[in-house]
Amino acid sequence: MQYEGTVIRPPSEADSIILQVSLGCSHNKCTFCGAYKEKRFGIRRTSAIARDINFAAQHCRRQKTVFLVDGNVLALPHRFLVDLFATIRSKLPWVRRISLYAGCRDILSRSIEQLSELKKLGLGRIYMGLESGNDAVLDAVNKGVTGDDMVAAGRRVRAASIFLSVTCLLGLAGAEPDASRSHAEDTARVLNRMQPSQIAVLTLMLLDNTELGRMARQGKFILPGKSQLFKELRILVAGLSDCRSQLQANHASNYFQLDGRMPRDREKFLSIIDNALSGSICIKPEYLRAL
Ligand code: SF4
Repeated sequence: MQYEGTVIRPPSEADSIILQVSLGCSHNKCTFCGAYKEKRFGIRRTSAIARDINFAAQHCRRQKTVFLVDGNVLALPHRFLVDLFATIRSKLPWVRRISLYAGCRDILSRSIEQLSELKKLGLGRIYMGLESGNDAVLDAVNKGVTGDDMVAAGRRVRAASIFLSVTCLLGLAGAEPDASRSHAEDTARVLNRMQPSQIAVLTLMLLDNTELGRMARQGKFILPGKSQLFKELRILVAGLSDCRSQLQANHASNYFQLDGRMPRDREKFLSIIDNALSGSICIKPEYLRAL
């Protein structure tokens, strides 16, 4: 397989065939994100996509899932995706699930019928970046949508019976305690309304090539300390009063891991977080954290 530029994928797609069909991100304006700064959004050359599918047909027979990159593959034209999914089904018939990243606005531009059509052709999982349920935070980081938009997009994915994995980003509101609390509380509220299949918690790491990284260097954004990040996580988990989802904090950016189901494991999660706050469990050192 050949890739153009940096390619990223969620931890749960580690064993997937990574097939690059788009370049960059259709939004590419979030102040904390440096993933696709060097790329202009568009469809990858069809000859390059066909070459990689043929390669996978010959050499990737043991991998049962396909993950489509780059960012926001759902922004590509519907007809293109229908043809692409049909090609994957015909050339890689052993593949049982296709997954992709999708932005909130790109999901909302699709009808439930269109999403259902892709589901029938193999689309089994969509990863959407919620980051925060707090409108002030979403606005400050230039996400371009509101918490209500996120709820509508998430519900649309679930209405098409597609597994929905949603990321939340600890620390995104900065170090001011009231903002940090509102970020966590509102994120829990949005998740309770959305009912995603899976919640993936990440911890903000500042990158030099991002607007937020520049703001931090100028003293205009302050990253919360570990104790505040753990409190934020505690408020978030405690606030998921109505959520029946998997919850995972197994990304390399986190200081410790959580992995289980809500509401079944809520008390266990809170106890782990309390132990992190009191210093009685091992916390990952900074040099082992990564994006
Ligand atoms: S966070 Fe997602 S939507 Fe925002 S710029 Fe990065 S890839 Fe695009």
